[in-house]
Amino acid sequence: MSRAVISIVGAGPVGCLLALLLARQGRAVRLLERRPDPRLSQDERGRSINLALAARGIGPLRAAGVLALVQPQLVEMRGRALHEPGGGGRFLPYGQHAGEVIHAIERSRLNNVLLDAVAAQPGVTLQFGARCLGVDVDARRLRWRDEASGQVREERYDVLAGTDGAGSALRGSLVAAGHASASEEPLAHDYREFVVPAGAGGSYALEPHALHIWPRGDYMLIALPNPDGSFTATLFLAREPLPGAADDAPCFARLADAAAARALFGAQFPDALALMPDFEAQWSSHPQSRLATLRCWPWHQRELLLVGDAAHAIVPFHGQGMNCGFEDCAVLADLLAALPADASGASIAATFPDFERARRPNTDAIAAMAIENYEEMRARVLAPGYALRRQLATRLERAFPGCFIPRYSMVMFHAEIPYAEALRRGALQESLLDALLAAGEPPDGEAGLAALADSPAAAQLLADAGL
Ligand code: FAD
Repeated sequence: MSRAVISIVGAGPVGCLLALLLARQGRAVRLLERRPDPRLSQDERGRSINLALAARGIGPLRAAGVLALVQPQLVEMRGRALHEPGGGGRFLPYGQHAGEVIHAIERSRLNNVLLDAVAAQPGVTLQFGARCLGVDVDARRLRWRDEASGQVREERYDVLAGTDGAGSALRGSLVAAGHASASEEPLAHDYREFVVPAGAGGSYALEPHALHIWPRGDYMLIALPNPDGSFTATLFLAREPLPGAADDAPCFARLADAAAARALFGAQFPDALALMPDFEAQWSSHPQSRLATLRCWPWHQRELLLVGDAAHAIVPFHGQGMNCGFEDCAVLADLLAALPADASGASIAATFPDFERARRPNTDAIAAMAIENYEEMRARVLAPGYALRRQLATRLERAFPGCFIPRYSMVMFHAEIPYAEALRRGALQESLLDALLAAGEPPDGEAGLAALADSPAAAQLLADAGL
């Protein structure tokens, strides 16, 4: 048996984490990245996404031995700070137990910390400026271009992991050869990022320990804190007029220039606008980008496997794309842990169908929940019954711990509950809430248990929890 070298294409967050986890198992890893080393260049503000890191991402980072390196870059977010139309504000905590928080981190900083760890990890060869052009899975040959010299090379690989993101060249090759089919469901809404600068001495202009949301029905602005006192704000807005929307409903196409954008911000997000003295310059220089849900199947062919966004990119509204990709890495590493460090390419590839079976129902579930959460963030939080429903959910969680867990909490704080299970239980819980709210005064504590068990949804939840 000859020890396989695992080639990984794409040194984004997922490719780096996968390289670390596999190298720590004693495997030989080669990581190829098309960009020059990003640690040697300046951040590109306005293009540098600010991410929410949650339980499903934290566990794999810990397993790879890098959590302590990442921690100084994190800013804790304890809930949503709502900036309501007309100027009101509310804080909605994410959870009700200690530690039920999520963490903001700049994607580029996280990537650089992971690259440092990869560069220091024995067993990994890291190569920048190597753009993958395609693959022939039957001949096990990878084609890539050295970006510095322009030279195109072709090499045989043992095992290949495609972590080259939503625009994956490897996925493109699989599809072109008829080994997989892929579809993209574009969102009608685009996004544009802004920086809210830090105040004097690195002070925060808004509450730092919150994810700020300006929900406006069909669109929203959000802002996540950075460790240097700044915030990364993102406007999510329809690209073109939405069907049935009012003639003057905002959309990117109707914002002809920075003055029109200023007028929208002045009317809808005046507190945020006041914090961006260079708003016009930012509007003019920051790109407007698209969002989509990417579906591909299968994810593997022979010794090639797609992982992370390359296999299943989702819209960002649950803050789970990268977390889900990290969970992919942990699941794959667990499957490979049963194999010796010198396992052959064939025995590594033999685990790929199990990986797909384990992950597909879960990645489908988070893709659906991510789209639903957009509606929740931009519109439902403003609906009249929303606060009451949340209060009731909190009471139920307190009265029936381990049985009733709000779906958001299952996704963000309970990595032991698979996404598909969170989706299923979440639907039961919603129907229970519907029934209780329709019935009037909701039951509380032990006395309410019997009343709850009358409802089929509650009976199922109680049975699931072994109560
Ligand atoms: P990528 O991050 O896309 O990395 C792919 C890497 O491959 C890159 O380094 C790229 O240069 C390289 N590459 C590409 N093509 C080639 C090639 N041909 N050859 C060699 N290398 C190549 N996720 C969260 O978990 N929480 C959030 O809060 C969150 N917010 C988001 C907000 C926005 C606006 C967006 C757009 C996404 C957000 N996401 C979030 C999703 C998250 O950014 C992605 O899920 C994550 O970056 C995927 O990581 P990846 O490594 O699979 O792919």
